[in-house]
Amino acid sequence: SSWGPSNTIAKTPETHPLTWRLRDDGQPVWLAEYESKNGYAGLRKALGELAPADIVGLVKDSGLKGRGGAGFPTGVKWGLMPPSDGVTPRYLLCNADEMEPNTWKDRLLMEQMPHLLIEGMIISARALAATTGYIFLRGEYVDAARNLNRALDEARAAGLLGSNILGSGFDFELYVHTGAGRYICGEETALINSLEGRRANPRSKPPFPAAVGVWGKPTCVNNVETLSNVPAIVANGIQWYHGLARPGSEDHGTKMMGFSGKVKNPGVWELPFGVTARELFEDYAGGMRDGYTLKAWQPGGAGTGFLLPEHLEAQMYAGGIGKVGTRMGTGLAMAVDNSISMVSLLRNMEEFFARESCGWCTPCRDGLPWSVKILRALERGEGQSGDVETLLGLVGFLGPGKTFCAHAPGAVEPLGSAIKYFRDEFDAGVAVQPAQAATA
Ligand code: NAD
Repeated sequence: SSWGPSNTIAKTPETHPLTWRLRDDGQPVWLAEYESKNGYAGLRKALGELAPADIVGLVKDSGLKGRGGAGFPTGVKWGLMPPSDGVTPRYLLCNADEMEPNTWKDRLLMEQMPHLLIEGMIISARALAATTGYIFLRGEYVDAARNLNRALDEARAAGLLGSNILGSGFDFELYVHTGAGRYICGEETALINSLEGRRANPRSKPPFPAAVGVWGKPTCVNNVETLSNVPAIVANGIQWYHGLARPGSEDHGTKMMGFSGKVKNPGVWELPFGVTARELFEDYAGGMRDGYTLKAWQPGGAGTGFLLPEHLEAQMYAGGIGKVGTRMGTGLAMAVDNSISMVSLLRNMEEFFARESCGWCTPCRDGLPWSVKILRALERGEGQSGDVETLLGLVGFLGPGKTFCAHAPGAVEPLGSAIKYFRDEFDAGVAVQPAQAATA
């Protein structure tokens, strides 16, 4: 878990709300240390000075957007929860099923700063009148599970969780639920099915979870990093929050961003929205290792499109990356170096997506293995003429709006962009037909 050159930049509560409390030795920050660094100040303010509607208003006005990859405005999502009748159970789910390839920001936050998420969830539950919360955690994140459970015990013992929190009359219980390690469990409605003990097939939306969620009850699903932003927004206010991002960025606040691949210093850092991808790549990740050059990069996970080195000038926020042709996704970028064949890389990625498909919709269930079959043939140099066009056809058939969930669209976004920029590599996998060879 490298923190790179940002270790040498002073992290302050004003500039690094998510990470300023992190310890240099990488050990978790437990309750006493967290509280000594102003931890739970946001919760005390939320319970002591603010009505639930005030907290919803703060989050709406902050412009906070979901940090799981889709960037949906958090305040809008919260505003979609029906009014509480005081009787019907309501749930707050934290999506901690972080399984996007190259993405490990939530893991770091949960392992090293578990109380920040817990504080964010208690404040959010207060705002949404949620009675019970679950952290749906990727099964492989055993250290995060251990640290979160220990932090939950600390919070309960300190009266920060359970009944009558800090004497306010507000009751909220929070549990860690570990998943079975399937990518599709991170899709919010598949997550809900899995939590209920069902097979993790996505549900059709609408209805959205706000109306019909866990056990049919009103439910809000937010990502770890999203919820971890809430304490500082409540404690420090909107004006401060709006001062965090770089000029030009339409997205407010900071974001956990990173770079992996054959860069000198792979890592994840908390940076203001609006830094350029080049700053992230050169100043933080240190550029490519000696002997390698950058061929392409993905801005935020396997489900985002490939970009070229010239696109590094784009600012890291949804609109900035959007201008050069793809989504920002999770903001943890991956460098593709000159030693990598795009066909082999895409074959590897599509094998992952095909294996992780739940199989519910036909385009995804049948289309992804078909793409793998073609990519394997192209990789062996045994492709048939028309194969690249078939792949492009699949990019269309599996794109947005054709399936219940975003799995298949996410799977074909990298494929379409790889063919757009590196078509010659795909064409080169088509075997020269005997007839062509004879006339050549
Ligand atoms: P989405 O855009 O469909 O929805 C995002 C959120 O907004 C959801 O909570 C959804 O309920 C809500 N929403 C959207 N439209 C709404 C409406 N009209 N009314 C009410 N709520 C609405 O995206 P998604 O399927 O939730 O997520 C796809 C994203 O997940 C991809 O962008 C990908 O980058 C990311 N992803 C992340 C990981 C990870 O490990 N972090 C893994 C896989 C995918």
